[in-house]
Amino acid sequence: MNLKLPLSLLVLFSARVWSSPVCSRVHTIGTGSAVLTSGRAGPCTVVSVGTEANDCSDEIYIFDMGQGSLRSFIDAGLDIHKVKAVFASHVHQDHVQEMGTLEFFHWFHASEEAMQNYTGLEFYCPSGSMESDPSTLDTTTCDWLRKGLEPFAVDVALRGMGGGPYMNVKEYRSEFGEAPQLILDNPLVKVHAIRVTHFPYTSDAYRVDVEGAGSFILSQDVNNDGNKYLLKLGELGPIDLLVEEITYNNLKSLEVDPGDTIHTTPHVVADTAQKLNATELMITHMIPPPCRDDLGPYTYPFAYFSEDDMHFILEKLGVPGRITVSRDHTYIQFPGNTRVQGPNVDIFCVPKPADYVPWRQLYGDSSSADHLKAFSFASVLVVLFSLVKV
Ligand SMILES: [Zn+2]
Ligand SMILES: [Zn+2]
Repeated sequence: MNLKLPLSLLVLFSARVWSSPVCSRVHTIGTGSAVLTSGRAGPCTVVSVGTEANDCSDEIYIFDMGQGSLRSFIDAGLDIHKVKAVFASHVHQDHVQEMGTLEFFHWFHASEEAMQNYTGLEFYCPSGSMESDPSTLDTTTCDWLRKGLEPFAVDVALRGMGGGPYMNVKEYRSEFGEAPQLILDNPLVKVHAIRVTHFPYTSDAYRVDVEGAGSFILSQDVNNDGNKYLLKLGELGPIDLLVEEITYNNLKSLEVDPGDTIHTTPHVVADTAQKLNATELMITHMIPPPCRDDLGPYTYPFAYFSEDDMHFILEKLGVPGRITVSRDHTYIQFPGNTRVQGPNVDIFCVPKPADYVPWRQLYGDSSSADHLKAFSFASVLVVLFSLVKV
């Protein structure tokens, strides 16, 4: 009997079982910033990877973890014990505040078996200062992470559990002008990092490639000029999704917003999305967050600005593909680009001022013009119908 055919079929079958379709989800777990906001945790973006049966969440990769984002992570139904790596882009408090807490609870809830040989979560951080001036180079971000558990030292000692917690810091060298570098190379997930300007600070941006389930660029904090480094990440291959921060504190119309030197203005977000030819754009880390007017020391030219205003502006500025103004717990699943928006945080919005006019109305919108045309056509029909009746 010729066994060749059945054997090759068996091999094929085994291979298919082993490589059951992989899917990924890019979650905006924390869409806030250093501006404390109800309904939005500090910056945190998560890429999860797995099989559809397990909600594409067999492996979890966390990019920054600011204030409130551990709670948001748990609320999103994600499992702390599936975290494979955590990335700290820079040491601004709102991006790293809960990393020590994450490790503490990862250890605290570890299974007995995991406790036997506990090594701690892996935290990836760039060497080099967060200052733009290279003469001040040190290892600020990694040093900060290494101290991440110090506030819990007494508590840990009192519990007497042993074996951890432990900040497993993976420091990689990151310098301006260097090509994107591969900092994580797992069978299904590859992560490249590049240093970007966030003047007078610096940060790192990432490219995440999931085998057969999407390629994403995550900007973290970057200023207008630093968007050129995101394009460098784009040179590694086509991308499906750009997750970009945005600031619009000087935006008064659709004209160019000069912005500040720290963050990215809508015009540059649109330009970057165009140059990367991104199929999807997710906006996060919005400054100010939509529908707030009580922003402490800051004053903005508008008392009220809606998610739809943001969507409209980006559309007008020529963003290709689909735009998502993210909320905490929004995710897009790949392949298939299925989008699930997080809960509406409008309940935390200030009441709309009486004189608020949506930007669609202010700056022209063909769809509302279409509505008007449809309305007029309907009115004509009603009039004709009443005439016939008469
Ligand atoms: Zn920052
Ligand atoms: Zn930030």
